Amino acid sequence: MKFNPDDRNRQVFNVDACTLCGECFHQCPELHLPLDIARQEIEALINGRKSRYVLSHCTTCFSCNYFCPYDCKPYQLILERWNELYLKRGAPYIYRFVCPTMDRNIWQLLDLFLPGPEKEWINAWRSRKPKGDVLLIGNYVHLLPFVVGGSRLLDYFTPLVLLDHWECGAYLYQGGYLDVVKKIAEKCRDEFNTWDVKNVVPLLDAVHCMITDVHPNEMNIKHDVNAINFHQWLLDKIDSKEIPLTRQLNMSVTVHDNCYSKAGGGQYWDPPREILKRTGCNIIEMDHIREKALCCGFGAGASWDRPIHILFDIMDVAGKKIKEAEATGADALVSYCGGCLYLLWTARELFGSKIDIYHIVEIQRMAMDEEIDYPDSHVRRAWDLIAIITYLMILSLFGRNFMIKEISLDQSPVEQRNFPSVRLIRRLLSVPLIQFVYKKIFKIMVKLLKSKKRVVRGAG
Ligand code: SF4
Ligand code: SF4
Repeated sequence: MKFNPDDRNRQVFNVDACTLCGECFHQCPELHLPLDIARQEIEALINGRKSRYVLSHCTTCFSCNYFCPYDCKPYQLILERWNELYLKRGAPYIYRFVCPTMDRNIWQLLDLFLPGPEKEWINAWRSRKPKGDVLLIGNYVHLLPFVVGGSRLLDYFTPLVLLDHWECGAYLYQGGYLDVVKKIAEKCRDEFNTWDVKNVVPLLDAVHCMITDVHPNEMNIKHDVNAINFHQWLLDKIDSKEIPLTRQLNMSVTVHDNCYSKAGGGQYWDPPREILKRTGCNIIEMDHIREKALCCGFGAGASWDRPIHILFDIMDVAGKKIKEAEATGADALVSYCGGCLYLLWTARELFGSKIDIYHIVEIQRMAMDEEIDYPDSHVRRAWDLIAIITYLMILSLFGRNFMIKEISLDQSPVEQRNFPSVRLIRRLLSVPLIQFVYKKIFKIMVKLLKSKKRVVRGAG
């Protein structure tokens, strides 16, 4: 299909300014395509012809927008093309994992394993009425409530978990589900309009970016709420001594810049680093940071072509990230995105890495002398998630692609169902010998099934 810049109000890619120079995909930290191939790829995407590499290998990391000398926004062209693919073939079965309105989603299944206090936090965050300054805890930290649960940081806010806000559509946007994201943006606007709140503070930069940039500028949906970046908020509170730091941690850390941190003109990179410095952390940077940062792995699922590869592609990319972090020699890897955090922990467990991985909120809490249950909660949660993913992988062998039809939850998705197979898998994965064998098999599968990624690097 020919590219038509007038066909949708969300069209962002500037086709008229594109010179077909190929720099976007040539400098891409994941693909490194030779210039001649990069030029062929951008031309194919513009003309709606088959892409050989980008649509099936991109990790949806946002970087190419930085490399375009004419600010054409090639990343958004990729999203448009993925959206067309989604409308033709649907989402892969395993993607129901992150769809809170689909049966057997991760939040529903994880409820089987959440300990009492974590359930209580979540129930409280789901039932609060929005007022004052609202902290949007988000769907990802919902998976790791111990990161922020019980912290004095929550005293500054009304903390909310709104599963059917889908992180304001952030992770769907990265997969190119643009038509669904637009509906989510409208839903968020309609709900925000009923709120009587001063400020909305998303824990996730991605959500801040959706509210302040993607919804208004790409979907023509404007929000009246005042969105404040959480890390900037925290840094201001530290600097004004309203939140005193009582301990210097004297740790060396390396920082994972998530994909969305590359949006917003670089505004998201420095506040987390400044917070880490205030807490007494010495930062040792990885080879790829800021606009060149590598994906945590999640984005590798966006460029799926064969459903069976999805999980192994994701873990291959996550493993690369962990190796890059280990190479710095830092004590710990710090993520300021909850989505990346659970994925990196899953990869750490599957690949047997020893590097510590913290959410930046956990670092902040330690510097405030709050007790955190580290690393036990993370290890336990990683294996909960591995059990759930394994269950969905098995089902996906027989499951069909689907369309996301419903975005609102009429009732709690956490039905009281037993899911004996998930419980059984989790119990088996608690046995050290089974865990050992599972990791071995998993590593072999990643090696076998990641072959398509090697083909691209060979092209470079
Ligand atoms: S989004 Fe990232 S991985 Fe995808 S083409 Fe652009 S730079 Fe490469
Ligand atoms: S999008 Fe930008 S970097 Fe990519 S080919 Fe066009 S002008 Fe060059």
